[in-house]
Parts: sequence; C-alpha cells; structure tokens
Amino acid sequence: MPRVSRRNILAAGAAGGMLTAAIQSKAQQAAIRGPQNPDLTRSNPDSFSPPVTDHGDTPAFKYSFSVAHNRVQEGGWARQVTVRDFPLSTSMAGVNMRLAAGSIRELHWHLPAEWAYMLYGQARITAIDLNGASFVRDVGVGDLWYFPSGIPHSIQGLGPDGCEFLLVFDDGGFSEFDTFQITDWMAHTPRPALAKNFGLAESAFADIPKHELYIFPGQVPGPIANDKRAAEHDEPVAAREFAFALNLQEPTKRTRGGEVHIVDSGTFHASTTIAAARVTVRPGGMRELHWHPNADEWQYYVAGEGRMTVFAASSRARTMDFRAGDVGYVKQSMGHYVENTGNTDLVFLEMFRTAQYQELSLANWMAHTPPELVQAHLHLAPGALESIPHAKQVIVPM
Ligand code: MN
Ligand code: MN
Repeated sequence: MPRVSRRNILAAGAAGGMLTAAIQSKAQQAAIRGPQNPDLTRSNPDSFSPPVTDHGDTPAFKYSFSVAHNRVQEGGWARQVTVRDFPLSTSMAGVNMRLAAGSIRELHWHLPAEWAYMLYGQARITAIDLNGASFVRDVGVGDLWYFPSGIPHSIQGLGPDGCEFLLVFDDGGFSEFDTFQITDWMAHTPRPALAKNFGLAESAFADIPKHELYIFPGQVPGPIANDKRAAEHDEPVAAREFAFALNLQEPTKRTRGGEVHIVDSGTFHASTTIAAARVTVRPGGMRELHWHPNADEWQYYVAGEGRMTVFAASSRARTMDFRAGDVGYVKQSMGHYVENTGNTDLVFLEMFRTAQYQELSLANWMAHTPPELVQAHLHLAPGALESIPHAKQVIVPM
C-alpha cells in the first residue's frame, strides 16, 4: 500500500468522514478504536503505520528530553537522557541545561569527558588545563566546548537572557547529578584541614555552603578581559583551547539538499573522544543511506521534523519519527538514513565516541564497485547504476 493512503488511514481515525467510500472502509478496519494517547500517536506516525519494508524486532532508538525528569533549581534547570531511561545508548549520555543570566553551573569535574553545543543565548565558560593555565571564553549559539576527563570547569549564563546548551558525555551510564563539586568537597573537609591547605585561619571558612549548590543564581560577570586577567594574575599563559566556533567553519559538504559540518579531533584538537556532525536537511531532502564503521551514533534533534529508518540486518528494519528535543541512537555499523518530513529545515547533531569521524555511503560503495558485480545482485534498470553520483553526497535533494 502506498505511504500516502496509509497516512490517510491514520488521519481518518481523527478526522473521519472526509475520505472516499473505498478508503473509508479500509480506514474503519485500520483506525484505532481502543484507548490511545493521541498526542504521542500523532507525533509518531511511522510507529502505528510503518513503511511496509519495516520488519522484525528492532529495539526503540528514540527517547526525548520532553519526558526526561527535570532538576529545577533557582537560576536554572537540567534534564538528562542516559542509559537508565534509554537502554540502547550505552556509549554516550546527554544533558540539556538552562541557566538564567548570571546563574552558575558550579565549579566541578567528572570522570567522562564533556562535549557541548550551545543552543541559545550566551555563556562564559572557565577551566584550567593540565598545566594549570587559565581558560576563560564566552560562547554563543553554535559554539562547542570540550572538557577532557577530570578537567575542572564552570558555566555561567550571560545577558540578556542566559543560555541553554546540550552536553554529551562519553559514557552512557554517567549522571550529571553525580559530579565532583567544589562546594560539596569543602563541606566534607574538616575546617582545620581547609585552614592548613590554604594557609588561612579557620574563620575564613565560616560561611562556606553546607551542601552542594549545583546550579545557583549570580551576577552577570563584567567584561571577559577583566575575568581573564584576574584568573591569569597578569601572567598570561596560552591554555589548551577547549572551545570551538563551529559556525566559522565552512560546511564540510553542501548540496542542494542541505549541508553538513563535521568536527572531530582533526579540527577541534581538544576533542579527542567525541567526533560530531551538524546536519541540515532542506524540506524534501534526505541524509543518505550510510553507516559508521567505528562508533555508535548519539543524535540530538535541534529543529524541524524527520524520520529515521535503521537497518539492523537479518530482515530487521524500523522507522521512528523525530522532532526538536528528541534523541536518537544508532548502533555501530547499522545502516540508516534520515528524511526531512516537515516544511522547514531539519537540523540535527550526530555525536560519536571516537577521535575521528568516519562514515560509509551505500551509493558511494555501489559507484566504486565493478558495475557488472553490482548488477548481478540488484538488477537495476538499464543505465540506472551509471547515473549514481561518483562523489559522496551526504545529503540528497528531494
Ligand atoms: Mn561538567
Ligand atoms: Mn549517521
């Protein structure tokens, strides 16, 4: 059955009476008559009415920040998608965080490395590198940062309206709510030890917090030059560059169907454990059939609507629908493609726990294999194989 009429069956369940008699009778057979969650059904049309090529038992490769628990504090909030809620996502976990202007994600560190993408507003990030050199940067929408395992850091919302960002950790079991925080450590160290460590009187610690702060309100900081100078103590030393301006990088590939920016340790040298691609697919376009030989893919949908089909071998294929705020996951080497199903640009991020971005394209493989050999398998129409582009497309137009 063609997809359009299958969609009409779904629509008939909600609209009813709008279709021809023939389709109507099919609609009555197929429409949902029992209990349902209409919002979820509407936003997941390819689950109830999958393409006929979908088959078999493939685990769900979608979760959404919209159903994640939100840790709300004065000054901001944070919600996470980890392997606990999304069992497929063993190699990476994600956090979506909002900080009001001036609010601070407190000075902390953690075991996994942290890769970040700025979604909204402006933030000031700080860290030190392994030589103790100070790092202070302001970041805006589309900027990245990467803090290696154990490197201590902070994030603060700037004016006028703070910031929102996505964090990706190179461990699916990580919890953002379980990190090493400066206030927590101080609160659990005896005052005499603190006094000895810093060469201060015990009274200097009379007002330190008794519990961790995690996120707390603060004042919007002054000019970055002042913060840098104060942190460097007028002895500027070039620290490791932990930030990267993705928008200043030319697209790695641009076609009529969209564009892709690839960023890994080859361009963003600090980012040794996370490689990424930002993909923009125009309406009607498609991220081509491909796979990644070296890592699982953790996806975050930034804008628009799309659907992804994953081919899991042994007759198994499944299609799921995605929109802004959703998370997708594709196991290493499973074939997949992503279609824009909306009327606006589909923008999503692909992250991989690896130093080097790698992908293989089905069309590229076929174009660089002896044609008689390909034809012995596929029996394409005469001339079809020759017209497949020889160069990798990445994103194909409508
Ligand atoms: Mn962190
Ligand atoms: Mn992919």
